[in-house]
Amino acid sequence: MSDEYQRRLAPAALLAQDRSLERWVSIPDQVAGLYRIWRPTPLYRARALERELDTPAEIYFKYEGQSPSGSHKLNSALAQAYYAKQEGVGRLVTDTGAGQWGSALALAGALIGIEVTVYMVRASYHHKPGRRHLMETYGATVLPSPGTTTAAGRSFLSQDPEHPGSEATAVTEALEVVRSDPDARFSMGAFANHVLLHQTVIGLEAREQLALAGASDVDYLVASVGCGSNLGGLMLPWMADKLRGAQITMLGVEPTACPTLTQGEYRWDYADAMGQGPSTRTYTLGHEFVPPPIHAGGLRYHGAAPLVGLLRHEGILDAIAYRQTEVFSAGALFARLTGLVPAPETAHAIRAVIDIARRCREQSRKATILFSYSGHGLLDLGAYGRFNSGELQDVESLEQSTDSPRPPAFQEVSA
Ligand SMILES: *Cc1c(COP(=O)(O)O)cnc(C)c1O
Repeated sequence: MSDEYQRRLAPAALLAQDRSLERWVSIPDQVAGLYRIWRPTPLYRARALERELDTPAEIYFKYEGQSPSGSHKLNSALAQAYYAKQEGVGRLVTDTGAGQWGSALALAGALIGIEVTVYMVRASYHHKPGRRHLMETYGATVLPSPGTTTAAGRSFLSQDPEHPGSEATAVTEALEVVRSDPDARFSMGAFANHVLLHQTVIGLEAREQLALAGASDVDYLVASVGCGSNLGGLMLPWMADKLRGAQITMLGVEPTACPTLTQGEYRWDYADAMGQGPSTRTYTLGHEFVPPPIHAGGLRYHGAAPLVGLLRHEGILDAIAYRQTEVFSAGALFARLTGLVPAPETAHAIRAVIDIARRCREQSRKATILFSYSGHGLLDLGAYGRFNSGELQDVESLEQSTDSPRPPAFQEVSA
C-alpha cells in the first residue's frame, strides 16, 4: 500500500506511532484528563473465585468494564479522536460489528469534539439495536451496512436486498466514504500498532497496582483475543521482563469458532475482508474467512494484530481455544460469585483462568494469575439468556489443519 494512500487513510500522528522506535510515548494531557472519568480502573482480586476453586493460586483482574462505553476500547478511541482533532480532521469514519468499538469512538468524538460516522453490520443494526442507540445518544451517525449511502453498499444490496452485512461490507463502505471526503479519516478499533500502544495503559496501571497490593511477580497473564488489543495492552508492559528470562506464561484465549492463533497460519494477508487495505504478516485464517455467528462478536476476526502474531510466531505467546458453552458457563459462574457479568469476550479469559487455577490446585502449586477483564456484559444479556435456557449451540469451525508450522496450543490445562 502506498504512503500516499496511508496518509489519506489515518491521521499522520497515528501512522508515526505505528513506526515509532521511541521507548516511551507519553499520554497527551487532554487525553490523560479524559481518562480520569474512569481511570485508573480497579485491580481486583477474585477471592470468591479462588475459594470456589479451592486453589492456592492468587487471581487478579484488571477491570476495564468500568469504562463508560463498557470496555477497554475507549482507551484508544480517545487517543485517536484527540490526534485527529489536532490535525484538523473533521470526521472519523469506522466500522463496527456488534457495536463495542463504535460506541467507544462515538463517545470519544463527543468528548473531543469531532464528528463520528459508524457503519454497523446490518444484522446487528436491526436485531441488536442497544449499542446503536448508545452510539446515537453519544451523537454519532450510525448507518446499516450494507446501506444506500455508498456505491459499494448499493451494489451489495442489488445482489441481495436482504444482505445481513458483515465486517467486510462495513469496512468497504467506511473506506469508500473516507476516500471521497478529504476531511475524513478512517479509525481502527484494533490491529494497528498505535492501538496496542494506547492500550498499554492497562498493563502499566496493573503493574503499579499489583506492587501496591504486595502481590509477588505474575506467573500468568491471560486475555481474550479478537485482534489482540486488550491482550497487547495488558501484556506488552511485561515483555521486557519476559525477554530477559522472567518465567511468565502469556496466554491468549480465542473461540474455537475463530481460532486465529491456534489454527491460523503465519503469513502475509489483508487486514480487511475485501483485500483492499494494508497487507501485513501475522497469524490469519485468511481474509476471506467468515466465522460462524457466535455471541462473542468482538472475537470474530480472521487475523491477529501484527505484533501479537509475531509474539505467537516467536513462541512467546501461548494460545488456547474454547467452545462458547464452556465460555458462558465460566461467565455465569463468575457473575454468581462476584456480581459482575463479563462480556462474552472476557468470559473466554475467565474460562482459561479457571482451568489454570484448577491445575494449580491439582499440583499444590502457588501462582499469581492476572487477567484482562476487557468489558462488561450488561448489553449482552440476550446471549446469557440463550445460554441459561440451553439454546446456545457450540459451533465447531474449521477442520482445516494446514501443514504450516505453528507453535502447539497451550498444553498445560488441556492435558
Ligand atoms: C473488542 C473486544 C475484545 C476483543 O478485541 P481485542 O482487540 O482482541 O482486544 C475483547 N473484549 C471486549 C469486551 C471487546 O469489546
